[in-house]
Amino acid sequence: MCKTEVSGRRDKIFCSVRCKSDYHEKLSKVTLTATERIDKILHRNRSILLELMGKNGIQKKIPKIELDKKKFNWTYITHYHVNNQGKEVRYLYDFSYIIFSDQEVLLKRVGGNKN
Ligand SMILES: [Zn+2]
Repeated sequence: MCKTEVSGRRDKIFCSVRCKSDYHEKLSKVTLTATERIDKILHRNRSILLELMGKNGIQKKIPKIELDKKKFNWTYITHYHVNNQGKEVRYLYDFSYIIFSDQEVLLKRVGGNKN
């Protein structure tokens, strides 16, 4: 970090604890800048799903347009898998959704988190 020549153990890569923590601080700032925009979209998307599902809902079918109206962002998800009917199940944290050809969306809550 400071260009000081490092001496000591062969695998030592920082001159001091201070330099090491400076490095990790810079790294996490850069990571925050790079991920913030998409994190916000994901968080917002989850809020929309929660709102549409209702606090205690587990499963609900809603028209895709309801999500569009709330400016749901269809680009970002946390993960996905293809179910045994060949349908793509998309996830946003503890929620999942499947888009059907009739423009209906099946929303499910997959985790135990009720918040
Ligand atoms: Zn240093």
